[in-house]
Amino acid sequence: MARSRADWEALARELRPEARALINGEFRQARDGRTFDTISPIDGRLIAAVARCDAADIDDAVTAARASFETGHWRQMEPPERKRILLRFAEQVRADLEHLALLETLDVGKPIQDSLASDVPSTANCIAYYAEFADKLYDEIAPTGPKDLALIRREPLGVIGAIIPWNYPLVIAAWKLGPALLAGNSVVLKPAEQSPLGAIRLGELALQAGVPPGVLNVVPGYGEEAGQALARHPDVDMVTFTGSTQVGKLMMRYAGDSNLKRVALELGGKSPQIVLRDADLGAAATDIAWAIFYNQGESCNAGSRLICDAGIKSELLAEVKRVAATITLGHPLDPSTKMGALIDAGHMQRVLGYIDTGLREGAELALGGRQALRESGGCYVEATILDRVKPSTRVAREEIFGPVLAVTEARDESEALRLANDSIFGLAAAVWTRDMDAAHRVSNALRAGTVWVNTYFKSAMTTPFGGFRQSGFGRDRSPHAIEKYTDLKTIWTTYR
Ligand code: NAP
Ligand code: MG
Repeated sequence: MARSRADWEALARELRPEARALINGEFRQARDGRTFDTISPIDGRLIAAVARCDAADIDDAVTAARASFETGHWRQMEPPERKRILLRFAEQVRADLEHLALLETLDVGKPIQDSLASDVPSTANCIAYYAEFADKLYDEIAPTGPKDLALIRREPLGVIGAIIPWNYPLVIAAWKLGPALLAGNSVVLKPAEQSPLGAIRLGELALQAGVPPGVLNVVPGYGEEAGQALARHPDVDMVTFTGSTQVGKLMMRYAGDSNLKRVALELGGKSPQIVLRDADLGAAATDIAWAIFYNQGESCNAGSRLICDAGIKSELLAEVKRVAATITLGHPLDPSTKMGALIDAGHMQRVLGYIDTGLREGAELALGGRQALRESGGCYVEATILDRVKPSTRVAREEIFGPVLAVTEARDESEALRLANDSIFGLAAAVWTRDMDAAHRVSNALRAGTVWVNTYFKSAMTTPFGGFRQSGFGRDRSPHAIEKYTDLKTIWTTYR
């Protein structure tokens, strides 16, 4: 039977999460014993004091990862065995569904129903998806003359530093861990300071599943301390990063200043949804509302700009508001809640500040706009729509990362396209139309890593995820993600 809010609250009270670092297969505090508090944005309460690791701990973790890589227990394991262990890891994640979902919801404030139905299952599916490649991925033999044999082999890079954000902590960890581990690398994972608990638990489950000690290390801490030390470390071969464009730029600098480690970046977005005059407005409205309000708008690929034909705008907005009214804002442990808390008080103030800025810059408030559920002690903002947003203003150009939709009118298809592409970002985009020719024209011309036609957020492990332009480079998900975590080696043999 489905659990009630009271059940979840009782479980939350009993929860004693592991909050130490996992280094070389052992849980330990930071070397200097310092901790930081992870606070729940649901109600402002302390969940746990977490090991505040810094450069010394990162160095221990990198040393452990390097040693595990050099011994080859993981890297040189028979492929079916590595597959078995990764599949067991995925099974452990599935078996830990309620516990992981609760950790995730407490740490980041997302609805428990989403953690249960989406975040945790997607995490397990991702690990299992990559596990299957272990004994199915073939290398190549290049065309040569009969006296030569040229093997083109894929080899693991070595030690991977993975630095991840707080909006989908488990899923994004899995997007890095699945292909990196499958390829035989060792990993040091630095979760966001707001959401360390799920990542630590993942490390524990991997160890229980048989991933050898040192192959997956989880080191919580601050970005400027642990994160920077990892990205600058001279013995890390690659940093795989998901987070803001601003910190993504630092990753490239750290790589250049240190050992020219490889860098893969999944960064921010300001994804446009174009609605042409002939679109199915009912279907469009449903997806437009969910595209911005799902996960409280804290999705890198949120559909945060609506670019709408002037002739249908008022009808469409009325529909979007009708759908938004069904996306219940509430306590994240209440199973009927569809929109929960923002990540922390600072971020909530930033989102509210953007709403104010938008209004000062001439936008009109069409929905929401205020802080909500103040008495909870948590961080909640209403589903918000800003209409008549001028394309040059900050709310049209900058990533707000909250439940705020910016609406701009377009006269026709070509103006809509021009506005849509007028951005430093290029993570995702959508076009709504019944005209197949227009759909084709617009989807070809949109500059984004994913373009949806008459839908939004549809995705699977089988399709790559990532951005154009300042939304980053490199792809998560799909077989393409494996390329990032491997290098090609040619072994050329001549027969005499
Ligand atoms: P963030 O501030 O860039 O932080 C991301 C990670 O980097 C965190 O672990 C953070 O640690 C760490 N970090 C911060 N400063 C650092 C530094 N100087 N050196 C090394 N590491 C550092 O991003 P966020 O606020 O957590 O997440 C939101 C952003 O992520 C948004 O821009 C969103 O669009 C983006 N995102 C992109 C994707 C994608 O796939 N394209 C997916 C999800 C989110 P601390 O937590 O300790 O600061
Ligand atoms: Mg937290």
